[in-house]
Amino acid sequence: MAQNHQSTVVITGASSGVGLYAAKALAQRGWHVVMACRNLAKAQEAAQTLEIPQDSYTLMEIDLGSLESVRHFVKNFRESGKSLDALVCNAAIYMPLLKEPLRSPEGYELNVATNHLGHFLLCNLMLEDLKNSSSSDPRLVILGTVTHNPDELGGKIPPRPDLGELKGFAEGFKAPISMIDGKKFEPVKAYKDSKVCNVLTMRELHRRYHEATGITFSSLYPGCVAETPLFRNHYPLFQKIFPLFQKYITGGYVSQELAGERVAMVVADPEYKQSGIYWSWGNRQKKDGKSFVQRVSPQARDDEKAERMWELSAKLVGVA
Ligand code: NAP
Repeated sequence: MAQNHQSTVVITGASSGVGLYAAKALAQRGWHVVMACRNLAKAQEAAQTLEIPQDSYTLMEIDLGSLESVRHFVKNFRESGKSLDALVCNAAIYMPLLKEPLRSPEGYELNVATNHLGHFLLCNLMLEDLKNSSSSDPRLVILGTVTHNPDELGGKIPPRPDLGELKGFAEGFKAPISMIDGKKFEPVKAYKDSKVCNVLTMRELHRRYHEATGITFSSLYPGCVAETPLFRNHYPLFQKIFPLFQKYITGGYVSQELAGERVAMVVADPEYKQSGIYWSWGNRQKKDGKSFVQRVSPQARDDEKAERMWELSAKLVGVA
């Protein structure tokens, strides 16, 4: 059980990869971790395998692809009586080989529904919990990725993300619409678009709420964590070659453990108490292992786009 003085963090998608290792790193720092996962048996086994002490985590069910499930999670969290000191939006799906779009229960394209819309609703609802936090330094952290940014080597590979005029969102984002820009379905682009929305959400949260609430909003690119199950839906050959390519060619490779540690630093360390910031440890730019504030992509720093994305997303998730 969390004690009164113990900080509590909610991490979505803590059953594998970056989220799981972040849970471990924060538990080691004395935090209580709410592992917000869609498969609790898997999450429990993963926590045990990593030897996260039983009393430093709680499992709670959430399916980010379902808006109803997100609302249900928030209700359960509130009923638990815990104070929310940090929220980490980490869960994501990446399904590069899809031929046709999959749909969420609400009828939205599933990559964007899970990675962006579910988290967008969660952030909007849990803002209230962060405002009421017993911590003097509440934080909300959203995972970014280099592929959101065509200014970076990792972001140059087509298809590039492009939200266009957000026509797909404006028209309701249900079949036959499957992309935010309203164009033809491209699963890799859908993932990248969702990650642009993640960064826009963080920046818009900062603009709207930082001054009034004191909450720190930030994003990070933890490095290329080439061995997480994120790539499980890719060709087996890709899964074999990608980590080697990142290790020996780009130098962008980081272990899951280090990526988790980086998330924990952004959640907990005083140096990371800067809001509206995108942290990176770089791929090629820096080799000293130190973090730096990275400029986000032109789309992700477009304030008008951020506002329009916010208003349309709010309608789609029912908080407008
Ligand atoms: P991962 O190992 O596949 O983990 C993704 C997590 O999200 C899993 O716990 C998964 O649950 C969960 N999840 C997926 N769909 C969900 C849903 N509908 N509801 C609730 N949970 C759901 O991937 P990862 O590499 O750690 O990625 C984590 C984050 O890091 C993502 O935001 C990704 O964009 C970001 N990132 C990754 C890299 C990289 O190189 N891997 C680089 C930069 C940024 P299950 O276990 O049930 O599938």
